[in-house]
Amino acid sequence: MLDLVIRGGRVVTPSGVGNWDLGVQGERIAALGAPGTLEAGRVIDATGKVVVPGGIDPHTHLAHPIMSHPDEPGMTLGPEEDTRGMLFGGTTTHIDFAFVRPGGDIRSAIEQRSARWKGSAYTDYSFHVVLAGALELKVFEAIPEAIQAGFTSFKVFTTNILPPHPKRSGNRIDFGRIQHAMERIAPAGGIMTVHGEDEDIVQFNYEKHRAEGRMDGANLHLVHNKLSEQLAFRRTTALARHTGCAIYFVHTSAREGVEAVAEARGHGLPIYAETLHHYTCFTADDYRSPRGFCYHTYPSLKYPEDQAALWDGLLNDAVSTTATDEYPTTLALKLRGKTIEDVTGGNLGAEARMGIVYTEGVVKRKMSLERFVQVTSSNAAKILGLYPRKGALAPGSDADVVLIDPSINRKLVKDDFHVSDYSPWEGWDVRGWPVTTVLRGKVIVDNGRLSGDTRDGQLIPRKIDGAVLRRPAC
Ligand SMILES: [Zn+2]
Repeated sequence: MLDLVIRGGRVVTPSGVGNWDLGVQGERIAALGAPGTLEAGRVIDATGKVVVPGGIDPHTHLAHPIMSHPDEPGMTLGPEEDTRGMLFGGTTTHIDFAFVRPGGDIRSAIEQRSARWKGSAYTDYSFHVVLAGALELKVFEAIPEAIQAGFTSFKVFTTNILPPHPKRSGNRIDFGRIQHAMERIAPAGGIMTVHGEDEDIVQFNYEKHRAEGRMDGANLHLVHNKLSEQLAFRRTTALARHTGCAIYFVHTSAREGVEAVAEARGHGLPIYAETLHHYTCFTADDYRSPRGFCYHTYPSLKYPEDQAALWDGLLNDAVSTTATDEYPTTLALKLRGKTIEDVTGGNLGAEARMGIVYTEGVVKRKMSLERFVQVTSSNAAKILGLYPRKGALAPGSDADVVLIDPSINRKLVKDDFHVSDYSPWEGWDVRGWPVTTVLRGKVIVDNGRLSGDTRDGQLIPRKIDGAVLRRPAC
């Protein structure tokens, strides 16, 4: 007899959508059967529910220094706080970052973050390795070893994001080092993850806005502008073509970014784009609303034409994943800055991501359930090396399962959220919301009750299928 059966739901599997029983044994999915054919010690009635793989948030910054006010630095909330919200919202795995800065090395950066997360996360997790600043060349020699150890993705910033400040270490790495890293990542089976903005354009725009006295944070989209994304995506893609390395562009925000990725994919290059559900739902006009900076993360919110391009990419091909750039803080901290130089970046959205993409994609824009699963779970799993252990409702995969109730039709309120003292999504109308979450076979959230704890999350080693690295595979 099985341990758990999720009975009678509309199940989204890699081979199609159907009404099946989903059987779980231990931590894995054991079987899919016709309704009523599987028996177990525990049965969850999923009649009327949509059953999908646990969400994967491929981009979070938990327990991360906040340096927008360098004289009063802060920290984002840690995994013990943010991942609780993830579970309520149907996300069962997240990928955070291990920063390597000059003087540091890859192995210790991974060890430090792993130690911080161990016993502190409700969800499963892994880390991208960030290569930041003028790293010594010997640092790069450890790239193949990190990939072998299951850390398959590396992250670079092509901009420092903010103007230089003596108390703030820059994130940018030069293009010579990006090439150097790509030459080591590609043959070892890894992928390069890129925050793509053009440093010259961004820093010049800061200088120009300062000179003109236009420091209001509502101008962020004029500093972190569309041209900057276009130049950085295309320059980095040229390096990828030269080195044979695959790229995952994080938080694509502009039509120009989507077009650059679509064109590269049209040439058969293994280039992938992520966007944020915030970018698909808000525009730069929203900066002027009372809590407008709640919706900001770098690069910036853009224009309706950019939203349209992001949705087109999500619905069709050019945008493969949705993430949050999760950066959880209190409301006071999020709204502390007011100028283009000190607005707090990052989002608080991991808890809402699955429900918002369901409402805005499936319900409002006729996204298929298969595509919904791709952009919330399976594509991130494939591109970053968690598939098929994660991202699939199939025998042998981890039993990370989410039940979405499509009959829920209401306005979100503060009490729907479990992380901070606010959510940017308060007041948003949703149709459909996650109600039950299963993590590796354990029913961890059921109808508003959490039965897991911070010892449930595990570090998951990753390995990317070669097909993903050779051509656009998803
Ligand atoms: Zn980020």
